[in-house]
Amino acid sequence: MEEELVVVENIEKSFPGVRALSDVSISLKKAEIRCLAGENGSGKSTLIKVISGIYKPEKGLITIEGEQYKSLHPIEAIRHGIQVIYQDLSLFPNLTVAENLALNSYLGNNKKFLKWKDVKEIASSALSKINVEIDLNRIVGSLTVADKQLVAISRALLNNAKIVIMDEPTTALTQKEVDSLFKIILNLKEMGISTLFVSHKLREVIEISEEITILRNGRKVAEGSIDQFDEPKIVYHMTGREVGAERYNYVPQGDKPPALSVQNYSSNAHFEDVNFDIHSGEIVGITGLLGSGRTELALSLFGIHQHDSGNVLVDGKEVSINSINDAVNSGIAYVPEDRLSEGLFLQQSIARNTYVSILDRLQNKLGFVDFLKADSTVENWIDNLSIATPSKDIPVSSLSGGNQQRVVLARWLATAAKILILNGPTVGVDIGSKEEIHNKLRDLARDGLAVVIISDDIPEIVQNCNRIFVMHKGKIVERLVGSRTHENEIVAILKKLK
Ligand code: ADP
Ligand code: MG
Repeated sequence: MEEELVVVENIEKSFPGVRALSDVSISLKKAEIRCLAGENGSGKSTLIKVISGIYKPEKGLITIEGEQYKSLHPIEAIRHGIQVIYQDLSLFPNLTVAENLALNSYLGNNKKFLKWKDVKEIASSALSKINVEIDLNRIVGSLTVADKQLVAISRALLNNAKIVIMDEPTTALTQKEVDSLFKIILNLKEMGISTLFVSHKLREVIEISEEITILRNGRKVAEGSIDQFDEPKIVYHMTGREVGAERYNYVPQGDKPPALSVQNYSSNAHFEDVNFDIHSGEIVGITGLLGSGRTELALSLFGIHQHDSGNVLVDGKEVSINSINDAVNSGIAYVPEDRLSEGLFLQQSIARNTYVSILDRLQNKLGFVDFLKADSTVENWIDNLSIATPSKDIPVSSLSGGNQQRVVLARWLATAAKILILNGPTVGVDIGSKEEIHNKLRDLARDGLAVVIISDDIPEIVQNCNRIFVMHKGKIVERLVGSRTHENEIVAILKKLK
């Protein structure tokens, strides 16, 4: 029989007014990598805190290394080798790497004086356990998030971890850092240590986990070996809804000229001889590898990047786009990739963030802003895009990522755009919001907008676009019909381009 390190059975945990966990069971074997998945508020962090002895459940049983507990004291959890790495990492930012690593052993040893040589030895042996090199004399506060995380993991190992629990460890990491974290998790497995990690980034979940447990509204709704799950299935269990099963079906709307026609469009360094038409009601996806020229193409259609030659027609009439103003006046709107750095004024209200794009249209001849009109425009879009907020006047920073993204959308839709170009429209938003944004884009297209989605998210493109372009080195190299294209085909095309 395989060794069960922790068995948690039938846990119930409530907070005033909320049942955070109902009848949840989970177990972890030696050297197992298990993902705990679930939408925000589904109970993941609460479950972790029950396993690590921070919360006392009202019901249930916890068995660790054969010993049974109704509830666990944090010290008992640590004694059994349960180490939690919280999102804040709980390090001392003003101490050095060495000091952070050695502190616990020192405190545990009851010594009066700390010998610098011992501190360094403890610390460097800790880091070498996971094959990482970080300068021991660096002040922890000056490290990258990824390096801080490595220090926290090394510290966990110093405390004889048998189970390392990580609560959303990849949220602030770059792809490269995620890859090296995954190597370390595999390394831990080699050492016989189990990892329980929380994430809602599904691609990562599938890549690294062996087992998965999915929570929804405080209940366990699915569990099993990761081979039995794919992205849509995980999403289904997380949200309780069938997501994206249905593709976007474009119905041609009469005999009108294309909403957007791009002809022989070139920009020296970035893209070359690009040609396409998009009709109102269409959702066109553009994908490609890094450096394919997609973003530059979009930016130049929005007047931010220059182009050297070629024509752009809107509703059959040639337009000249050399500035954002030209683009907006021609009916083109662009939602940037990084809403936080390029899109939103976080400290400003939802209202201000929305009408900033149409200030000139809200002014009367004397230059006074028509605030009544501004307010009603804003309220209209809050309503139309179902932005979840008590008021239009609260700062955008207090909204969730998905709702912030909708404010950016509102801003550009308020310009009465005919053509909406979105770059990575759902990067970094949770799965529920992602689906709502997709539904909204479909609604907008059905209402007559022409939509362009630039994305690396192949399922997103395949499900929502009736036509798909693959760009490579500045050219459109493939044109596919959405309804006839399987995700794998696009993946294969991209692989060949590498
Ligand atoms: P997750 O980590 O999956 O996002 P949590 O475990 O943090 O979810 O939360 C589960 C539910 O319990 C949520 O409804 C949350 O609001 C509630 N909750 C969590 N911690 C507390 C707390 N300390 N006090 C009150 N409610 C809480
Ligand atoms: Mg949480």
